[in-house]
Amino acid sequence: MASAKYIFVTGGVTSSLGKGIIAASLGNLLKARGLKVTIQKFDPYINVDPGTLNPYEHGECYVTDDGAETDLDLGHYERFLNISTSQANNVTTGRIYNNVITKERKGDYLGKTVQVIPHITDEIKANFFKLGETGDYDIVITEIGGCVGDIESLPFIEAVRQARWDVGENNCLVIHLTLIPYLKAAGELKTKPTQHSVKQLLEAGIQPDILVCRSEHSLPPDIRKKLALFCNVQLNSVIEALDADTIYDVPLLMRKEKLDERVLTKLRMSHKTQPDVESWRNFLSRVKNPTNEVTVALVGKYVELPDAYKSIIESFIHAGAHLECKVNILWVSSSTLSEKTVQRALKDADGVLVAPGFGERGIEGKIAAIRYVRENQIPFFGICLGMQCAVVEFARNVLHLKEAASTEIVPNGKHKVIDLMEDQKKIQDYGGTMRLGAYPCKLSKKSKAYHAYHSVNIEERHRHRYEFNNVYLKEFESAGMKATGINPDTGLVEIIEIPNHPYFIGTQFHPELKSTVMNPHPLFISFVDAIVKIKKN
Ligand code: GLN
Repeated sequence: MASAKYIFVTGGVTSSLGKGIIAASLGNLLKARGLKVTIQKFDPYINVDPGTLNPYEHGECYVTDDGAETDLDLGHYERFLNISTSQANNVTTGRIYNNVITKERKGDYLGKTVQVIPHITDEIKANFFKLGETGDYDIVITEIGGCVGDIESLPFIEAVRQARWDVGENNCLVIHLTLIPYLKAAGELKTKPTQHSVKQLLEAGIQPDILVCRSEHSLPPDIRKKLALFCNVQLNSVIEALDADTIYDVPLLMRKEKLDERVLTKLRMSHKTQPDVESWRNFLSRVKNPTNEVTVALVGKYVELPDAYKSIIESFIHAGAHLECKVNILWVSSSTLSEKTVQRALKDADGVLVAPGFGERGIEGKIAAIRYVRENQIPFFGICLGMQCAVVEFARNVLHLKEAASTEIVPNGKHKVIDLMEDQKKIQDYGGTMRLGAYPCKLSKKSKAYHAYHSVNIEERHRHRYEFNNVYLKEFESAGMKATGINPDTGLVEIIEIPNHPYFIGTQFHPELKSTVMNPHPLFISFVDAIVKIKKN
């Protein structure tokens, strides 16, 4: 076993308590003390990865540099810690079983009955320790998805119990995130649900070391004492997690509650160096004290569920903080948009972002929005499907190729301006077969993109099947839509721009997946900056 220490974060009482944010905040504080930290998430569902899930089920699918399709919590980890994660940072029950069944078919367990304990739990533990064993980390934080007591998370909880023995005392701890509800009529905070949830952990053989208690009201001393007594934790290991103005307040709130100190004490690690939270504080103060305000319409088909666009929302917060500008998001459902309604729907928008997506629903609405902003000189940013729609719109209304479409929507269309590449045509499986992960891109120096990045060679993350069809490139360029970012290895178009427009950029890649608090994304900064300047004039 390598020298990394392990922190497991479990959840109780209900889901949606923000385990990902607590884990990311703790990671942030430990990293701010100079420790090497990574965070991983273990999800109890049977899908091998969330790539095939509808965003309505699970929010956005976050893609890492190595092309893993992962849970959106990995986005929080990257944004809070300014680190890059990988496939190893997100493991599901489906992946665990897939690995075990593959081994069984190969004959690795020959002669043995393959069982949940020990085979599944061994596989889970091997994955718990994988990153720690690289020697690259002092601390590995593992978030266990779901709630204690769920049938499907049982093998994970059992694996945590066993893992504690494997790594030994002082090398491992369990933080349990729980809810302390407030009963308005009684005017009281109630500890019973937490007592029950800790009891459930105890039944599984796990005594939590630290309780993080989500609450709408501050925990008075008697409630803290009661929780400590009934849940068998030290008084100073009862940590209060009040509802915060923004998720970015949470690291500082956890610092105030000394969560990082408790963790280090329990892991017998030095706390001599204090966490350096100055730049974080500075960022927060910029978020909270903007000197400007703009409104961006986000045109997409999943707008009822903002989690589907998590990284885009956060990227606007990062870029906004950088520019001291509050970016309001006006949610516009693409399915309700048409040439007739678009003007009214976008009348309050200073700029328009057309979102990524899949399938036919809402496509014509997106195209109508793009025509409107192109013709009315309104700043535009299209991401992935948003860029593809910009290409289709330009083909139809500027090149007069009335039947132009993406092969995704019209499989045998006359003008496939967005089309499948040869290597995608042979693919039959849906899972993990898109163009995924980081690819290089070369920028033309005469472009807004270059002006934003200040660099010719960039690398951005992808998640799509269809591409700009280079057969049409010349025609587009002579009519005023330029390919300003090209993949140097394949010649694929990665960025389009209309230079003769105040701000019109579409990217085939997903810039939102690389924006972090400490490194706001250049394209989001340049988009918001352009909007601010145009609005001023
Ligand atoms: N559906 C499009 C494709 O697969 C775009 C995907 C996306 O927006 N992420 O190419």
